[in-house]
Amino acid sequence: MAVLVMKFGGTSVADVEHIKNVAQHVKREADAGNHCAVVVSAMAGRTNQLVSYVNEAGGDNVCAEYDAIVSSGEQVTAGLLAMILNTMGIKARSWQGWQIPLRTNEAHGKARIVDIDADNLLKSMTGGTVAVIAGFQGLASDGRIATLGRGGSDTSAVAIAAALKADRCDIYTDVDGVYTTDPRITPKAHKLDKISYEEMLEMASQGAKVLQTRSVEIAMKHKVRLSVRSSFDDPLSCPPAGTGDENRVGTLVCDEEEIVEKHIVNGIAYTKDEAKITLVRVADKPGIAAAVFVPLAKANINVDMIVQNISDDGKFTDMTFTVQDVDMERTLEVIEQQRGTIDFEEVRAATNIVKLSVIGVGMSSHAGVAGDMFAALAEKGVNILAISTSEIKISVLIDADYTELAVRTLHTLYGLDKD
Ligand code: ADP
Ligand code: ASP
Ligand code: MG
Repeated sequence: MAVLVMKFGGTSVADVEHIKNVAQHVKREADAGNHCAVVVSAMAGRTNQLVSYVNEAGGDNVCAEYDAIVSSGEQVTAGLLAMILNTMGIKARSWQGWQIPLRTNEAHGKARIVDIDADNLLKSMTGGTVAVIAGFQGLASDGRIATLGRGGSDTSAVAIAAALKADRCDIYTDVDGVYTTDPRITPKAHKLDKISYEEMLEMASQGAKVLQTRSVEIAMKHKVRLSVRSSFDDPLSCPPAGTGDENRVGTLVCDEEEIVEKHIVNGIAYTKDEAKITLVRVADKPGIAAAVFVPLAKANINVDMIVQNISDDGKFTDMTFTVQDVDMERTLEVIEQQRGTIDFEEVRAATNIVKLSVIGVGMSSHAGVAGDMFAALAEKGVNILAISTSEIKISVLIDADYTELAVRTLHTLYGLDKD
């Protein structure tokens, strides 16, 4: 008998028919005697629609009312799934974030989980009632509803799995696992049977939206066994948890030591959600970088790549950095407020750019991965605007028009194309 967390994303709960299909997956596990917590997203497109209402009303994405509005989609799907399970004779109840409670900080719009009191949840589950949990939402320390950033139901699920000390956390989505790159961009992408936490973390943070980055961080920290699989597989042909056969479906995210077959590059990710900001002719003196980036950090704006070019006379620099495109307007406001402290001639902003990353744990012990990448891109005429690296990742910023060409070129270069 396993304690199991199952999470279903937007396309898996797109309408009542789909929710009935989800209920069959839950039934399979409940019938096998597993104690289930089921985390659900809002119906596909619902959160976007709610965000558009906020925009129409002139609101921003970092206040408590934003969260009150956009968290509502999950409340509906949780209620519907619990209702359907009950009509099927499976005892179930819905839980909203505040009812658990799943506590977060006060960073509305992208709150972080600080604590989950799983006692009541576990008591109810072990008493034979399936817990159907509204993902994406929690109770902030100011007493208001908070949401966990777009794609945050993954994080709800993994954090709840950690709090319940669950045997596994299954993320059901519209693809049958984690692929070498987004399968929508090349048919040559292939499914990975296993991927290490470290690689998955880089893949997610570099744009592979199949898992929210924070969810992988929590899985890695608490050693949650994470399985990514498709809700569109026949519910009855999937082996239930605890049978020993369940790892044959999907992709298991696990420790590197569990992976026998190792490659230099395991995946390619890209993100279009970037905005490039350039401060032109900034005075080159101590304290300027701090004057730019400390106020941005205080405004909860994450800065990603930073490039600085010093002019020939050494008196000025052009400072280029990237932020998430949703943060671009606020970034420009913060920079304007700093005009008195930072001496710059002009600020430029662009969003038609993409960050492309190649990822692999084998990279740390192999020379030449970056050189091969730059040469292959140059041969296709792709200009590199900025570069950043970590031990297991190389990222480049390129013009958005070249995204598909660049992904496909690198996918072939590193031998990732399926046979
Ligand atoms: P859900 O609504 O279930 O949370 P998402 O749309 O957030 O689903 O994530 C699933 C999508 O992630 C897939 O449809 C796929 O296009 C995309 N994706 C991007 N990169 C990858 C990858 N490397 N492997 C699998 N899917 C990926
Ligand atoms: N419904 C939320 C979103 O669309 C959370 C999620 O689906 O994970 O971002
Ligand atoms: Mg998602």
